[in-house]
Amino acid sequence: MLKVALTGGIGSGKSAVGELLQELGAVVIDSDELAKSVIERGSLGFERVVAEFGDEILTAGEINRSRLAELVFSNQELRHKLESIIHPLVREAAQQATRHLPNDAIVVNEIPLLFETQGGSRFDFVIAVQAQEEIRVERLKQRGMKEYEIAKRIAAQASDAERASIAHAVLQNDGSIEDLNEQVKTLWFNEILPKAKSK
Ligand code: ADP
Repeated sequence: MLKVALTGGIGSGKSAVGELLQELGAVVIDSDELAKSVIERGSLGFERVVAEFGDEILTAGEINRSRLAELVFSNQELRHKLESIIHPLVREAAQQATRHLPNDAIVVNEIPLLFETQGGSRFDFVIAVQAQEEIRVERLKQRGMKEYEIAKRIAAQASDAERASIAHAVLQNDGSIEDLNEQVKTLWFNEILPKAKSK
């Protein structure tokens, strides 16, 4: 099994690249989705988060993720506490999801904070996707995010240069989706498939 990580800042086009890779035959696992599911009501993660942060992070019995995010955003200690609960559960869930796949599967893990969590070395191949900041902001605004929210998120994340420093391939997503598609195809056929075959 070839383990690929796909990272990039918010609005860079990770999900778009993930979809294209899925069409080409990869099994794509979205760590943001897993992070949501491991703290759903009734889960072990839910119990742990509520035990640590108290009932005030609940809305109608569910963890209010935006309140939680706000709480840990400006407090590094709380952030580390939350991450120490969620990250191992996400890793475990990702492993579960790939347990029954055939040996020749190519698994792509979409991980926004790969650089920040020093997770790169767990993968055979790391893809970083990037786009100029003005373009990211414009695309995210179209998706309904407020400009100040976008700026806050971008400022809290690693830089493109940091992500590129742990990547085997960098995709530049400043053009059209067709342009991105071409880059992804080239990467898939010229680098990822040969790497999977030589494993
Ligand atoms: P991420 O997952 O990195 O946050 P997305 O893949 O969700 O980024 O892309 C952010 C937004 O920009 C989405 O609405 C997506 O459809 C759009 N988008 C991504 N790439 C392009 C592109 N090349 N051209 C136009 N829109 C794009």
